[in-house]
Amino acid sequence: MTLSDRILMGPGPCNPYPEAVQALSQPMLGHLDPEFIALLDETNERLRTVFGTANALTFPVSGTGSAGMEAAIVNFVGPGDTVVVGVNGVFGGRMVDVVGRTGAKAIAVGHDWGQPIDIDRMVAAHPNPAMFAMVHAETSTGAQSNVAAMGARKGGALLLADCVTSLGGVDLRVDEWDIDIAYSGTQKCLGVSPGLAPLTVSDRAIERILPKPQSWYLDLNMIAGYVTGSGARAYHHTAPISMIMSLHAGLGVVLDEGLDEVRARHQAAGDAVKEGMQQLGFELFAAEGHRLAPLSSISIPEGRLGSLSEAEVRTQLLRDYGIEIGGGLGPVAGKVWRIGTMGHTARQRNVTTLLGALTDILD
Ligand code: PLP
Repeated sequence: MTLSDRILMGPGPCNPYPEAVQALSQPMLGHLDPEFIALLDETNERLRTVFGTANALTFPVSGTGSAGMEAAIVNFVGPGDTVVVGVNGVFGGRMVDVVGRTGAKAIAVGHDWGQPIDIDRMVAAHPNPAMFAMVHAETSTGAQSNVAAMGARKGGALLLADCVTSLGGVDLRVDEWDIDIAYSGTQKCLGVSPGLAPLTVSDRAIERILPKPQSWYLDLNMIAGYVTGSGARAYHHTAPISMIMSLHAGLGVVLDEGLDEVRARHQAAGDAVKEGMQQLGFELFAAEGHRLAPLSSISIPEGRLGSLSEAEVRTQLLRDYGIEIGGGLGPVAGKVWRIGTMGHTARQRNVTTLLGALTDILD
């Protein structure tokens, strides 16, 4: 077995689409080359389609999903602002940390892990925050939250949605749901390598961009002109050309297959994991009715693994079968597995292979 045989079914990177991998080896272009600018414009247009938005300011931030998170926060809030953050797992907690570092006040609305964000509690947390922030698809727990319901009740606040594990894999409609700022990552349901953070910003939010955000690198005032063509396409930082070529190719695969079809493929693969794991004697961790398709969180019942620890099972899966799955984080470490079916990985054949390998190891 070679490394290229790996089946990436963890919460981290999926197997990228072959077209996205091939695109990484295209000839380098300059970041002001008209050929590259055209490719960037088309990439942004493709991102608008998957985000479900007409937002002019839609582009891939240079950096991983966390760079998208920082850009989505640091440009809009600072000292004197209050942000209500839904926390139902690791990534909501990370947003609280980022908000705090800007000098804004974060009100963390905590939830039990595995539960969706409770919109009533978000609204009750503060009468007029500058921003509501929540994670659409909590990768640490496998719970999906109702962003549309938050959009309907955000009042004068901006709504920020982390869509790292939802973009391209589950229904997401930025404009219809009244989301002002959404970011994602390339390594999940978009089926591309890690390295970029697709970001979209509503016109309403653009009006609230701070004149001098507390980040130079992520300052949208300086970046927007280059990425959208609304201003001088002047140097700010060197665009990660190869990654943008790869994202362009990955989005091409998604849109050629059809966004609805790709989402249905994610749903079918996620359903097959959940059904198959239950048949093998495991339980589902995330609250019923709020289970995320691309990331299935699986509780490990006492005694189900015999004499093996959960980490030993994951080690055997990787070493003997080339299959990666994820362990639990924080309070569910050692108790939960996280099985991703994202991007190119979201296929029945991978689910069947995983279930067969687990059966071999455990029975
Ligand atoms: N938000 C969510 C929901 C995530 O799952 C992740 C990463 O898994 C991030 C943010 C951070 O993204 P990255 O690890 O690409 O920086």
